Amino acid sequence: MWQKPKITGKSRRDFLLKSSLMLGGTLVLNPELAFSLANRKNWTVGEIIDTFVSQVPTAPFQQTVDTIKVGSRDTIVTGIVTTMFTTMEIIHKAIELKANLIIPHEPTFFSGQDETDYLQDDPVFRAKYDLMEKNGITLWRNHDHVHRLQDDGVRIGVVEDLGWSEYYTAGSPILNIPKTDLKGLINHIKTRLDVPAMRYVGDLNQTCSKVLLLPGAVGGRLQITRIMEHRPDVLVCGESNEWETPEYVRAANEIGMKLSMIEIGHSASEEGGSEFVKKWLNQHMPEIPVYHIPSGNSLKVF
Ligand SMILES: [Zn+2]
Repeated sequence: MWQKPKITGKSRRDFLLKSSLMLGGTLVLNPELAFSLANRKNWTVGEIIDTFVSQVPTAPFQQTVDTIKVGSRDTIVTGIVTTMFTTMEIIHKAIELKANLIIPHEPTFFSGQDETDYLQDDPVFRAKYDLMEKNGITLWRNHDHVHRLQDDGVRIGVVEDLGWSEYYTAGSPILNIPKTDLKGLINHIKTRLDVPAMRYVGDLNQTCSKVLLLPGAVGGRLQITRIMEHRPDVLVCGESNEWETPEYVRAANEIGMKLSMIEIGHSASEEGGSEFVKKWLNQHMPEIPVYHIPSGNSLKVF
């Protein structure tokens, strides 16, 4: 799922340089521009992390999965790759792009806490870890923080990806989209998020307008609680244990309720969040080239 990177960091810098020349000789500087020019600097990993954390109202957190998994806070950052999952391909692309900071949303070493004590002699773990270490790459996970900005950055990014920004109310997982049927909604998501197929529960002809959007895997209890609160036509989520929400939605259909659910797949359902983080970095650290590279889904359909 490699896409040609958009070098927005550089183009913004060029824009700023051009703008400053145009404005040369006058004292009337756009405050944002003046700030950017005065603050052009070399960023360390630690400074980037601290700046992001400073924008999260409830941070710092006592416990968080957002730690440095490889490398060091003191690394001077030459470029950044944002993504959902740090695959070997993503690491190779980062090296190629001379980007020495990778910011994934999800775990790197196959568990929520990225526990590596039991993996030390495993060739799969070693390949990923050593490739990053040997190439001077630092990896910082940004999961808890991007979700807990004033408004969830992942949701904002996903809503943009889906083309639903005009139906979005900040802070709300409910979107009232133009009426369609479940089949039409699935096709819309397939096209917008580049997903070949999705699993669903319900009637493909059911009318859908009130969408409950819960990217990622928030858990069956929370998905069902939100369904009870909002009574949507359809839950659109990343994934769910098969024995939890899908069974609830099936039972709802069996008693005649109009309710369906669509599982996009975890990665595609939150990939918009990595675009959000890229834009955030462009805005706050315009000096640094930033690339969002979608990592795609490990699970294929056949
Ligand atoms: Zn997430």
